[in-house]
Amino acid sequence: MSIQMNAVLFSEAVQNKEFVFVYQPKVSMATGLVSGAEALIRWQSANGVIIGPDSFIPYAEQQGLIRQITQIAIDNAVKQLHIMKLTQRPIPIAVNITYQDLEDDQLLDYLRDLIESNKLDASLLELEITERTIIKSPKQVQNRLAQLAASGVTISIDDFGTGYTSLEVLSNLPFSRLKLDRSIVAGLMTNKKKERIVSSSIRMARMLNMTTVAEGIEDKLCYEKLMRMGCSYGQGYWLSRPVEFEQLLEITNKRQWKGNPSGLLHLIQLDHMEWRKDILEEVSYLVDMSKQEKKKIDVDMLVRQYSNHQHCNLGKWYYGAGQVFKQYQGFTDMEAAHSALHRAGANLVRMAVKEMSILRLLEEMNLLNELSGQLIIHLEKLETQIQYDTLKFNQLFSERDFLQRSNLMWNQSQLMRHSNQVRTNIISRNIHRFPAG
Ligand code: C2E
Ligand code: CA
Ligand code: CA
Repeated sequence: MSIQMNAVLFSEAVQNKEFVFVYQPKVSMATGLVSGAEALIRWQSANGVIIGPDSFIPYAEQQGLIRQITQIAIDNAVKQLHIMKLTQRPIPIAVNITYQDLEDDQLLDYLRDLIESNKLDASLLELEITERTIIKSPKQVQNRLAQLAASGVTISIDDFGTGYTSLEVLSNLPFSRLKLDRSIVAGLMTNKKKERIVSSSIRMARMLNMTTVAEGIEDKLCYEKLMRMGCSYGQGYWLSRPVEFEQLLEITNKRQWKGNPSGLLHLIQLDHMEWRKDILEEVSYLVDMSKQEKKKIDVDMLVRQYSNHQHCNLGKWYYGAGQVFKQYQGFTDMEAAHSALHRAGANLVRMAVKEMSILRLLEEMNLLNELSGQLIIHLEKLETQIQYDTLKFNQLFSERDFLQRSNLMWNQSQLMRHSNQVRTNIISRNIHRFPAG
């Protein structure tokens, strides 16, 4: 701790709520637009000095004052969400919580009341909890996390990559987002091992239905690399330092960085390939089963599981975050191919249980392959259509930057109008916000 803490002074600071918050934007790598922010606490002491959280949060934990601080942070986030709701489309605000917040029901009860009395869209409130906290948590604390998620708030695992969470723990906890720690992100460009950790974490998060946020992005190359890897959001000094709330609103409305969803679309193709592999494995498993064993299977349930095209990873994306692309032909064309594919898959499973001839199974497998190929073609078409718009926008965007730097004022205003027009086109095509990656 770099400053000498005074117990009485600090306790007074907590009672008097001598804290302010700055906000660091999270940028969607698919669209380049601000899609969320993290509220970071500062202690504004009576003499006007601003003190950073690393100097007082550990002390607050030690003094048993952290719960009060968490309530101040949550009240603040709710207030700002309310302001945003009145003035613009709200973006989620994240608050950091600690182990002590999860030791009893205080936070849970507080949040439930707050959500109810403010008629709050709870998903706009995000709680960040570090990976280190999770691994040392007993079952009871993990259950509380599940109850918090059930109240509708979004839960993120923070500083991921520092604590060695097991897959078992990760898959059993209700996280919606995984925040890659800046120590891993920082080494991404120079260290092959860290690059692999990042790309496999992004893939793993998708498979567990989570979006990813890369922290500590300090340069353009790192941002672009993560974008190509299919990371959902970026946060870091290169995008924006933590700023005052008014500035956050301005950045949210006016700023845009480069965005490109091709990394994400590549991951979606992998989702689909994974699903196809699962179904073929299921069929060969069923074919090998004895008649006796087959009698024990709930065939209807199994068939339902494979026929529902809205519940696979691709379907969840399509009917959720993917809707921002609904103006594109490639996107709308995917729907029929995707649902037909699931029908063929379910049919295959049914046939394998009913012991149809191998020839009939082969025919149905060929149909499955054909539909699978069609789906991939639509996905690639969608990628090309979006790439075209994105490149057009990014090109104008760089030209505008260049002209701004060159001070060519007359030309600049012309180009501004033009690039704003392209931006409007893109936004009206609805590539505006990514609700969840
Ligand atoms: P964190 O949750 O990992 O928050 C990110 C920290 O990294 C912030 O520091 C942010 O300013 C900094 N950062 C962001 N981008 C970059 C970058 O590109 N490079 C570098 N070097 N740093 C970057 P900050 O605000 O000093 O917060 C430090 C920690 O204090 C946070 O780490 C969080 O654990 C804790 N904290 C902040 N606000 C709260 C709060 O309201 N409650 C609790 N319990 N903890 C808080
Ligand atoms: Ca955090
Ligand atoms: Ca962090």
